[in-house]
Amino acid sequence: MARRRQIYEGKAKILFEGPEPGTLVQYFKDDATAFNNQKKGVITGKGVLNNRISEYLMTCLGEIGIPTHFVRRLNMREQLVREVEIIPIEVVIRNVVAGSLAKRFAMEEGTALPRSIVEFCYKSDEMGDPLVSEEHITAFGWAAPQDLDEIMAMSLRINDFLTGLFLGIGLKLIDFKLEFGRLWENEQMRIVLADEISPDSCRLWDVKTNEKLDKDRFRRDLGNVEEAYQEVARRLGILPESGPRDMPGPETMQ
Ligand code: UDP
Repeated sequence: MARRRQIYEGKAKILFEGPEPGTLVQYFKDDATAFNNQKKGVITGKGVLNNRISEYLMTCLGEIGIPTHFVRRLNMREQLVREVEIIPIEVVIRNVVAGSLAKRFAMEEGTALPRSIVEFCYKSDEMGDPLVSEEHITAFGWAAPQDLDEIMAMSLRINDFLTGLFLGIGLKLIDFKLEFGRLWENEQMRIVLADEISPDSCRLWDVKTNEKLDKDRFRRDLGNVEEAYQEVARRLGILPESGPRDMPGPETMQ
């Protein structure tokens, strides 16, 4: 029996039609991809953890006045979200040199930046998410200049807030990616934070040891990938009590 209509399937999530108009159900998979789909794998329990982590972070951001698409978590792997028109731009905020920035400028990973850098990439798998400037975004009509100003201001505020939040649990927020969407409410448009915030989309390093607790463990075959995601959830105080796996089944009684 088809329970509901699938709207979209991405690399790590599936979107289903929601219970009411204007809502969607966001389902978190265990699938992981890297390097524009060239590397594929499964991180057992990742979907459950990312659902919780993203719920927690989006809720905290909502509490400080950042509008988000998040409504509520429905179960281990699903959350209810508002249906938005996704702006086809990935906003990357960087505090410390890592990943593609380190490569592009032959810089050493781990170098602190004197000020946070905001970058934009056009969301296109075929083109490999090319880096674009504000000029491209406005000239091609992906977002209006005033939308982009709002996105930039929100991104910096989110960065300040999350940097402090993670520092409080012994993690450095190296860089992360955000996506925004347009929410229409009685002819009025608002830009809201969408997608997810999780160790799939953030680089998080332990403050003391610089150990990586994010998707780089998968990208770079560092091992203990599940454990790293669990550790982030544990430090946030949100590790699901029954463990990261769905429906572990009843415990056998001896
Ligand atoms: N990122 C993401 N999705 C992408 C590209 C990047 O979530 O499609 C995140 C990534 O996890 C990191 C930040 O954005 O936290 C910066 O990524 P970078 O540009 O260094 O690219 P990468 O090294 O991941 O290829």
